[in-house]
Amino acid sequence: MRKSQEHQLLEELQSRGRLSPTEEKELFIRRVGFEGELEAFQLISDYKKSEWQLLNDLTFNHDFGEIQVDLLLITQLGWWVFEVKNYDSDYEYRDGKWLVNGRPKARDDFAQLKRTMEIFKNIHRSSGSRGELVGKLLFINESDSVEIVGADSALYLKRAKLKRYLQELAEDCTIFIDDTVNIEREAQWLLSWTEKNLRLKSITDDRFESLRKGIYCYLCRSFNTEVVRFHVCCHACGSTEASEKAILRTICGYGVLFPYKNLKTSEVLSLFGGQVKYYRVNKILKKYFEVSSSKGSFINPINSFEYQFLNIKFRYIDKRNLGIKKES
Ligand SMILES: [Zn+2]
Repeated sequence: MRKSQEHQLLEELQSRGRLSPTEEKELFIRRVGFEGELEAFQLISDYKKSEWQLLNDLTFNHDFGEIQVDLLLITQLGWWVFEVKNYDSDYEYRDGKWLVNGRPKARDDFAQLKRTMEIFKNIHRSSGSRGELVGKLLFINESDSVEIVGADSALYLKRAKLKRYLQELAEDCTIFIDDTVNIEREAQWLLSWTEKNLRLKSITDDRFESLRKGIYCYLCRSFNTEVVRFHVCCHACGSTEASEKAILRTICGYGVLFPYKNLKTSEVLSLFGGQVKYYRVNKILKKYFEVSSSKGSFINPINSFEYQFLNIKFRYIDKRNLGIKKES
């Protein structure tokens, strides 16, 4: 599971400058939401049957309208849509109204679910899937501070009931001997219908000017770093990182800030604040990124390093707090 581009962008902005109060709030909401989705994804993965497919963060934009779905579980019996809510304040739903800590809540989660499912119904129908379509709010927070009175119990599920619910669903599915092929086909069909980059956020050139340039430490985010041949040393926490990795990480950060741009060496270089030379950035772009159709530029993966290059092994490994060693 990966964070959305907007979430990644806010984190890059936070590392390189100050967020506005609105952005701070937005980042907080995104972090809490992401943690909840991650938690839900892991729990469902643990409890689900192996042949079921669990998809996450799907965005659709077709004639039916635009919707985003947190989690979608494909089983022999049909599709289960989960809208994950990671609430730890006191939420109360009574007589058709939501309250948060005793005050009215702006958005009605049930109304939002209803809207999503109305649109999703059309997608489900056009897929040719003959199974059921079920939509539920999933309250994932362990504190279980959500109290619901008078709502259709089919429309929501609490964390404590999730395991039992999926076990029962699995039992219901045992009448199907093997429908793995259909599940796989439906998952592929859905993925082919999603729009990966629908809501991209970019920053202005002025905002870019105001950002702190250079390589920040991968551990403590300090800019007090020094590129020493094959390593980047952090003078604040004493860690070292392979310089190839640090450069790659910084290039990815640039791509997240400007999702609509291809990656050009001269432009990307401006984020390094003079810490790295042109040829080195160019060499790494050539090594790790695909050449784009526009001359002299590379395809922007619009993804931070942790998601794009996680499995790449570097010759030099990162070291934490082992003192700063300068190479001769
Ligand atoms: Zn550091």
